[in-house]
Amino acid sequence: MRHTTLFFTLLALSLGSAVPRLSYAQQLNTATATAHEARIPLNPDIKTGKLPNGFQYFILRNTEPKERVLFYLANKVGSLQETDKQQGLAHFLEHMNFNGTTHFPKNALVDYLQKSGIRFGADLNAYTGFEETVYQLPLPTTDPELLKQGLLIMRDWADGALLEDDDIDQERGVILEEKRQRGGLSQRLQEKTFPLLTNQSRYAYRMPIGTDEVLNSFRHDEIRQFHRNWYRPELQALIVVGDIDPDDMERQIIAQFSGLKNPKNAPLSKSYPIALTGKKQFMKFTDPEVTQTSLQILYKRQVQKTRKLADYKNSLAKDFYIQLTNMRLAEQTRRSQSPYLAASLSNGTLVGNLETNSIQIMPKPDSLQSSIHAVYHTLRQIATYGFTATEINRLKSDYRSMLIQSLKEYDKTDSKSHMDQILAHYLKDEPAPSFRFLQPVLLKAIDEISPSDVLAHGREFEGQRDRDMVLVYDDDLKQIPGEAVLDGWINLALQQDVSPYQEAALADKLLSALPQPGSIISETDNKTVGTQTLVLSNGAKVILKPTTLKNDEILLTSYSPGGYSRYSLKDFQSATNAANIVTSSGLGPFNSLQLSHYLNGKNASASPFINEIGEGIKAQSSREDMQTAFELLYAYFTVPRLDRDINKANLEKTKLSLKNRHQQASTFFTDSIAAVLYDNDPRKTGPTIQKIEEIDIDRAYEIYKDRFADASDFIFVIVGNFDRALIDPYIKQYLATLPSLGRKEKFVDNGAYPPAQGISRSIYRGKEEKSTVAMAYLSTYDDYSEYNNLLMDALSSCLTIKLTERLREKEGGIYSISVSPSLAKNPRKRFGMNISFTTAPGQVDKLVAAALEEIELIRQHGPSQEDIDKYIAEKLLGSSQQVQYNGFWLSYLLSSAVDQLDPSRVFKESDLIRSITAEQVKQLAQKYLQPEHLFRFTLYPQKD
Ligand SMILES: [Zn+2]
Repeated sequence: MRHTTLFFTLLALSLGSAVPRLSYAQQLNTATATAHEARIPLNPDIKTGKLPNGFQYFILRNTEPKERVLFYLANKVGSLQETDKQQGLAHFLEHMNFNGTTHFPKNALVDYLQKSGIRFGADLNAYTGFEETVYQLPLPTTDPELLKQGLLIMRDWADGALLEDDDIDQERGVILEEKRQRGGLSQRLQEKTFPLLTNQSRYAYRMPIGTDEVLNSFRHDEIRQFHRNWYRPELQALIVVGDIDPDDMERQIIAQFSGLKNPKNAPLSKSYPIALTGKKQFMKFTDPEVTQTSLQILYKRQVQKTRKLADYKNSLAKDFYIQLTNMRLAEQTRRSQSPYLAASLSNGTLVGNLETNSIQIMPKPDSLQSSIHAVYHTLRQIATYGFTATEINRLKSDYRSMLIQSLKEYDKTDSKSHMDQILAHYLKDEPAPSFRFLQPVLLKAIDEISPSDVLAHGREFEGQRDRDMVLVYDDDLKQIPGEAVLDGWINLALQQDVSPYQEAALADKLLSALPQPGSIISETDNKTVGTQTLVLSNGAKVILKPTTLKNDEILLTSYSPGGYSRYSLKDFQSATNAANIVTSSGLGPFNSLQLSHYLNGKNASASPFINEIGEGIKAQSSREDMQTAFELLYAYFTVPRLDRDINKANLEKTKLSLKNRHQQASTFFTDSIAAVLYDNDPRKTGPTIQKIEEIDIDRAYEIYKDRFADASDFIFVIVGNFDRALIDPYIKQYLATLPSLGRKEKFVDNGAYPPAQGISRSIYRGKEEKSTVAMAYLSTYDDYSEYNNLLMDALSSCLTIKLTERLREKEGGIYSISVSPSLAKNPRKRFGMNISFTTAPGQVDKLVAAALEEIELIRQHGPSQEDIDKYIAEKLLGSSQQVQYNGFWLSYLLSSAVDQLDPSRVFKESDLIRSITAEQVKQLAQKYLQPEHLFRFTLYPQKD
């Protein structure tokens, strides 16, 4: 179930980056000329059409990323169309489309795509909802034959599922395991609450995953019938977004899809709108795994669709109401006497025709009534006195600057964002205008929003009509209130006296005085990589890489050896939390709330970090706000702040969240594994209340200051759209003047590592009929090198293919398996290959034996050349893409500098990938997948 609120859409678009093609003023004029009642036009860049058989298509050329295209086949059929005997078959059919189609029998489809470098699950995927089934295929565009095959796959998905008896029966186990893998607390909660929330409608009895009974025993004909009835062109659309020629693509689509036929006498495609009753409903829920009491008050109503331009203003005003209220509610939690841990309003689509406006409250232990009182105090204060002009203007300015920034990067918007918008347009009839058209409309709407427009939305969060209350509680709640008691508390809270909201005045500067700028004492160029390396007068090193990969993005990272490994066990908890304690405190003259006000409307941020082996600061900004980013960085070195109150409140919150941690099966499992592997070393075990109590806030502040007392051994890397004339003065002012002590620090190896000999343990927790198997080969890694790491990556990819074929396709015992290498260089060279899956408790031994058999085969004979070829194809695709991203260059240049590796090696990476052989991988598998280095942990349900 996807929610596309306006706010999220904006965030998605803001990920892009570019120069506006029209001037800002011209755009505003266009918008003014547009009548408010006008319908919202579809993005004119989208080529769209409907074939005589009803099949629709949408094509958009977009070159971010280059040489890639996304194909989506959207079907307006989901679990709502199932009969009682077909529960789960819409989703089952989705799986069957990967298990044999007209042109790709059996597993040929997945196999063919893997050979082309497309990963099953990660790239190639599909999902089934109540109302839709969507198939997703990303492809490179460099090979015309592959593109043609891609369209053929889409055509097969539209009507070519073979649905052979054996293949259907083979898949039953996989889907039952998918159902099991999803099982857990949230699933149990959803099963209970969903019938209430959906007013006992059809939705409550059509969960897409289906029922065990149907999945185990449906007749083959039942799924074939469902396929015939519902996979028909009048309910289908193909959406293509990417680096393609739209005219050519349209011709191919017409040729490929015109032959699809609608079945005769097919059932009518109906919607199943949920009727509102006007009544209120209540439910309470508890479970041993619940670790936090929460009350949710939901107001249901018909979805408010965006139809006309004027609707944007209304939905923006509602976003404003929700955000401004949430800021006030969050402000309370900054004080240690706040009765609640968190409280917020939200709005979203529930299902189909309904949306909810909801209030969520998470009280501190046994403080439900006082929490309700405090939350309604805020709501009443807002209703009585409104928001202040400052609050509203601040939010307006944030939105404005976000919209302006988003338009700059619009031509760099990711194809996936466009795809999501077009998909929602086809499936849910949501508008899909061009952001070039939309942005001025939104800017104008923001200007026009009045305080009363915002305040009007408060009414959507009150009253008793169509209101559901869900109380989820744990053993902290001494008396469990019923609906009448809760209503009484709310009524009482609504009668309290309130006074106007007060906001403290703000200092106007972050830094009071700046020293004389320092200087750049040397500079070397690397023409191949396009970088300049500077040494500054205080000893700090700066690596610059100007790029135009984004239109207006500047990223900075930095590193200095040391980290929290340098502190004794006594200081360990303070040291690991030091950076957090400082960032929660604010900066310079500002507390954290004031700092966010100071940064209002600016596109700049910075955050310090301290990890095991080093420390540094990351920052980002637009060109215009680059100076602010440098100021923040300088301030985190020179004027870090300590706010004891907020940190005490935060630590209290963390302690409460850890209270019942051992009740949750999955965290109990990971905590137990860490305890066994590291012999209870507190540096490596999971979080506990006692560890939080060991944190000394003042000591943490001292540690932070010490970590950032000396910039002389720092390396800074800056990547993005800047030029030297712009950035050099900032480097001299803010980086060359950072304090310098000339210390030569190194990280420390504290020696907490798993034993040399493998261990096997069973752990019992939780009540779900479900086991998790976590296996790992762990050892030292004397062969650490970039090339060997690549071979290990290839090994893990070959293992994934083989273990999926065996445990999923052959045994039908799992839904998915995760295989991932963990390769460390510092503080010690360590190897890990981690393998995990979930299954039925009774199948654990059989599946582990099967997995070990497959691993042993790879050790003895090496991976197959075919699997190595699949890995090489996949890796080459990724390798050609990464250099298009500033973020890649940032971390790559930093690690190259820290490890003193030649940064130009990235240009030879594809040769390196092509040189991988099965024999090399086998050598490493023999050495590192040794049975005596196998650690095996299994989670079983608790015995009664
Ligand atoms: Zn599935």
